[in-house]
Amino acid sequence: MKPEEFRKHAHQLVDWMLDYYENIDKFPVKSQVSPGEILSKLPASAPQSGESMDQILKDFNELILPGMTHWQNPNFFAYFPANASFPSLLAEMLTATLASQCMIWDTSPAAAELEEQMMNWLKQMTGLPTDWAGVIQDGASTATLTAILTARETKSAYRINKEGFNNGQQFRVYCSTETHSSVEKAVKIAGLGKSNLIKIAVDDSLAMDAKALEKAIAKDLSAGFIPLCVIAALGTTGTTAMDPLEPIASICKKHEIWLHVDAAYAGTALLLPEYRWMIEGIEEVDSFVFNPHKWMFTHFDCTAYFVKDEEALVRTFEILPEYLKTQSRGKVKDYRDWGIPMGRRFRALKLWFVIRSFGIEGLQTKIRKHIQLAERFESWVLDHPDFEIMTKRTLNLVCFRYHPHGISNEVEINQLNENLENSINSEGNIFLTHTKVHGKYTLRMVIAQTNVEEKHVEEAWGVILSNL
Ligand code: PLP
Repeated sequence: MKPEEFRKHAHQLVDWMLDYYENIDKFPVKSQVSPGEILSKLPASAPQSGESMDQILKDFNELILPGMTHWQNPNFFAYFPANASFPSLLAEMLTATLASQCMIWDTSPAAAELEEQMMNWLKQMTGLPTDWAGVIQDGASTATLTAILTARETKSAYRINKEGFNNGQQFRVYCSTETHSSVEKAVKIAGLGKSNLIKIAVDDSLAMDAKALEKAIAKDLSAGFIPLCVIAALGTTGTTAMDPLEPIASICKKHEIWLHVDAAYAGTALLLPEYRWMIEGIEEVDSFVFNPHKWMFTHFDCTAYFVKDEEALVRTFEILPEYLKTQSRGKVKDYRDWGIPMGRRFRALKLWFVIRSFGIEGLQTKIRKHIQLAERFESWVLDHPDFEIMTKRTLNLVCFRYHPHGISNEVEINQLNENLENSINSEGNIFLTHTKVHGKYTLRMVIAQTNVEEKHVEEAWGVILSNL
């Protein structure tokens, strides 16, 4: 492609981007295509000679767009969001333009130093200990794996990295039954064995029962296992339940167990001083993750991972082939040593754009508004005789179900709610997903999309009622 052609198409695309955002609610939120439909329309093999960008963009609109689910649509109430915003989008355009690979300080000093400072800003903004060190990773799953690997190495005096598992030690990892599946994945990848992940019972609010944790650890100790790591969830995926950090932290301290906190979604709420109760006990935590790419208006991927012991992290992952030896080594942060991949995108730029453009107050205003909208939605559910709230709301996720008067059979109620969800999502006006609360099919309404307004939430309630 010639430079002038690029200019023409880039200008066209900026117009396309804004038109897309202005008309985003005209697309079905959840893609309505059937399995295999897009695949069947794509040529079976690659073109021999190059095609025009006009043709490629035409195909993008006609073939690809119908198969996309529109996560930036304000009627998206599903999962947890993958929020974006215009400042973040502008930064992503620059990141793509620079196309730098920021694996070490020397390969882009500004990327490394901006990342260091953004992590410092985030600590101050969220009330995390300021003497911790932070690094941007691609996802909370990677961060949790990083934490478990670091715990494994510190516990084994860095022996497993060197010799592998060769002395019969059996480590145990603990999390609640409600914790995200990334923990199980991490335990498997770290070579610890899925059967050594002990799922701890939860209380009525679906938060980890600290007494049950204490008991499980005592039982393992007496059976000769080595308790390695506890993962506490602040904001579980199903219901945003909050594990009680203080008692969990004191158990971990007593038994010298690594404590990792997964606040992937809910961590953003720490921008609000009134939600800092979530991290009472944080001083005893070893590592902490939250995703600005979920609720902090920053494009996927952008995960903030913080550790108390920077040296332990680097010692676990450091590797120094000849071609990566630099004069600056030891004086700077080479972030390739702070996690699993070597190559790294310039992710700090979008955080810088977002934080500066919104300002802390702007971010707080939006987050508070989302929580207030959830309160309002919750009040409509409570006022309706045929609906019920399924868990105590902690933030901006409302867990509820349809429970018509006179029906008490749980199997039937589950089916009614599954049908309701499918019927709503097949219309494409809004998109919501479900979880199970004590085995009961529960609809989740996450009110966190960057551009969601009260009218969207009101209309969503109307859509739900019209599908009964
Ligand atoms: N932890 C929690 C609590 C989550 O809700 C999720 C995803 O929704 C994850 C971890 C995984 O996050 P990621 O996609 O960044 O790996």
